[in-house]
Amino acid sequence: MTYSIPERIRLAQTPTPLVRLERLSAELGGAQVWIKRDDLTGVEVSGNKVRKLEYVLADARAAGCDTLVTEGTSQSNHCRATAAVCARLGLKSMLLFRPGPCAGPPVGNHLLDVLFGAETRNFTREEFSASRARIIADVLAELRSAGRVPRFTPAGASEPVGCWGYIQAMRELAGQVAAAGLGACDVVAAVSSGGTFAGMVLGRKLHRTDDLHLTGVPVSDDVPYHLDAITRLCRETAAQFELGITISPDDLHFLDGYVGAGYAIPYADEIEALRLLARTEGIVLDPVYTGKAFCGLLAEVRAGRLGRERPVIFLHTGGVFSNFAWPELVAG
Ligand SMILES: *Cc1c(COP(=O)(O)O)cnc(C)c1O
Repeated sequence: MTYSIPERIRLAQTPTPLVRLERLSAELGGAQVWIKRDDLTGVEVSGNKVRKLEYVLADARAAGCDTLVTEGTSQSNHCRATAAVCARLGLKSMLLFRPGPCAGPPVGNHLLDVLFGAETRNFTREEFSASRARIIADVLAELRSAGRVPRFTPAGASEPVGCWGYIQAMRELAGQVAAAGLGACDVVAAVSSGGTFAGMVLGRKLHRTDDLHLTGVPVSDDVPYHLDAITRLCRETAAQFELGITISPDDLHFLDGYVGAGYAIPYADEIEALRLLARTEGIVLDPVYTGKAFCGLLAEVRAGRLGRERPVIFLHTGGVFSNFAWPELVAG
């Protein structure tokens, strides 16, 4: 293979632990449930986004950028991680919120964005989706005319260079699975902007870790949407970095039925799943992404379709701070 790996800036605490959930496994009648703790990539930079930002920030720095511009909701884990890494590297961050925060003092991720000194702009969801390209172009033009050198990264840093975060995380995980003597495993992860799952799928092929069987759990959109978006992102990444691999829709397996009423709209079974893991293991999920994905994993384990013949590994992608934006809901 002659592909070239892009530069990265080390920001995440890796390797993150791979641990067996002893008490939960017992509670589930002797299933084999493991967790990959990517919620422990850092405190301010906790979660999956920092693995992608390591590559995006290296790219931005090489291009002489002084400001990273990105998009998300005001409770976005990605926006918070971006604000944190920019502060750490002496760059500015500009967060385009869609929608902006509710009235009242900042809470959850947004509180941290304020602490990190991020600049923010608020848009309604409708306004942003109707004129996204123009809004982004206008903000970039405005920053350039003020003498700044901005770079835009899309929601979740899900662009080809960002996919390298999870291309390389798959190598890390495969090494840990081998060291633990686990053999073939299922790996379950939440899917939204898609860069995490795209990276995993690419990494599996590139590193030939065929024993890791990947399942994505959509938490924001339907399966056809994610199938299309992730196939395209994988192809773009493979082409840009000359990976010499092809990804077809057959490489992508999804567990459907756990979006609920929509993105960032939690539901009762999900909160039950979140509470079960907290109570049995002292590990906190989040109400937007990992709660839904873990809810799907639990249902499959209870139905005997996962965690019986071979271990199942849940990729904990983080999100702890958004619990503090939904206190009534999470506390019940
Ligand atoms: C962003 C996010 C995800 C989804 O990752 P994508 O790469 O956007 O698909 C999962 N879990 C958490 C906690 C996240 O913040």
